[in-house]
Amino acid sequence: MTLRVAIVGAGAAGLAAAYDLTRAGARVVVYEAAPQPGGLASGFRAEGWSWSLERFYHHWFASDTEILRLIRELGLSHRVRFPRPVTAVWYNERPYPFDSPLAVLRFPGLSLLEKLRMGLVIAYLRLTPRWEPLERVTAHEWLPRYMGRRAYEQIWQPLLEGKFGEAYAEINMAWFWARIHKRSPRLGTFEGGFQAFFDALADRVRAQGGEIRLSTPVFRLEPEAAGWRVEAADGPGTYDAALVTTSPRLLVRLVPTLPAGYVSQLLALRSLGAVVLILALARPLTQGVYWINLPKRAGFPFLALVEHTNYIPPEHYGGEHLVYCGDYLPPDHPYFSMSPEELLRTFLPALPRFNPAFRPEWVRRYWVFREPYAQPVVPVNYSRMIPDLRAPLPGLYFASMSQVYPWDRGTNYAVEMGRRVARMILEDHRQGCWAAMALEGISQGAP
Ligand SMILES: Cc1cc2nc3c(=O)[nH]c(=O)nc-3n(C[C@H](O)[C@H](O)[C@H](O)COP(=O)(O)OP(=O)(O)OC[C@H]3O[C@@H](n4cnc5c(N)ncnc54)[C@H](O)[C@@H]3O)c2cc1C
Repeated sequence: MTLRVAIVGAGAAGLAAAYDLTRAGARVVVYEAAPQPGGLASGFRAEGWSWSLERFYHHWFASDTEILRLIRELGLSHRVRFPRPVTAVWYNERPYPFDSPLAVLRFPGLSLLEKLRMGLVIAYLRLTPRWEPLERVTAHEWLPRYMGRRAYEQIWQPLLEGKFGEAYAEINMAWFWARIHKRSPRLGTFEGGFQAFFDALADRVRAQGGEIRLSTPVFRLEPEAAGWRVEAADGPGTYDAALVTTSPRLLVRLVPTLPAGYVSQLLALRSLGAVVLILALARPLTQGVYWINLPKRAGFPFLALVEHTNYIPPEHYGGEHLVYCGDYLPPDHPYFSMSPEELLRTFLPALPRFNPAFRPEWVRRYWVFREPYAQPVVPVNYSRMIPDLRAPLPGLYFASMSQVYPWDRGTNYAVEMGRRVARMILEDHRQGCWAAMALEGISQGAP
């Protein structure tokens, strides 16, 4: 009989799994709560734009081999572009490029000796393949010890704060190793925007017989005698297996029958939300800089300023200059409940610091996007906390950003994980594992 699989979430992980499962002949239904595929990496196209813009700033690295391979399989490599935009750090009230050895040498905030020491440590991190010993210590302890306090405080502490907010001092050094190991100065995007890529991937899944039900949230998943019953906005459905790609917390809510030990493991995984204000400006804000990390102590109301149109030309956006003001914050932070107007009022006074000529009249329109589950927090020994892709109920699988490690979560790793879990589902089905697991559960008195 044909394998039937329900997938919750049409983000990068869910779509990549659907792509491989449908290729292997499975009957797949992807349930997606949002009106478009792409999840956190999805975009929107405002009137007058020929490209869509990601709701949250997104780019690929040259080392993102898994997503680049998938794009190649789809025959779409000609639509990938890899410009080299300027990324900078904020120092003495201005941005300084910090994305090449020459830029680092020119940076006035560190002495030559401090730069050399930092360079040696970066070279070591790039060369060593072993991240495992590094996960036993926090970056907050390791970096000042080896790189020097000033290099840490000027450059890397702001980066950790920008990414993890108040949890920055808990992040383990393996996460930092992965960041140094994989980053490239060229940053990739898809012609038309990330949304165009996800639309193409969704179309391919459909062409292979998969169904993608947009604007169809799932409310509950329940094990049945031989499979899973999915209750969604469009009614119930029955499947042999189910793959959930949402946050760990949502998995707990969706599947009330999860064993208590597994629930505790899921709830121990911490994460931060993301808030961005996107401004469409009549003029450029910075002098050609794409990305600026802002140190917390500089007192900005947000921690990253990303001028997208210094990466992708404004002509794709009707000549508008697009700027993200972004931050990672706990989901109970006031930014999650403020109105878009309040957020604009809070952020706008900071903009003349980037360009003294800035006037509020430059803002033609603006948008606010918020997601409560955006960045997993990875403390020491995180590898021991990660739940398996096979949930402990027969035929249930879970693949989320919290299981991407030591790499920083990203669409590349979501694709890799989605394809890995698809292989696992096919293999388990072939070997009749779910029936065996169910029998084992019955013999142990599990529900
Ligand atoms: C601010 C920010 C910047 C980022 N920058 C980059 C970057 O530069 N490069 C990069 O590669 N990655 C970046 N990422 C990370 C990247 O977006 C994620 O790693 C990736 O999109 C995760 O894909 P996913 O499929 O695992 O999860 P998601 O994209 O979260 O997909 C899960 C899907 O499940 C859906 N869903 C939730 N609940 C339900 C329900 N009840 N029923 C049905 N559907 C449901 C959601 O709507 C969503 O579409 C960034 C993320 C953020 C937040």
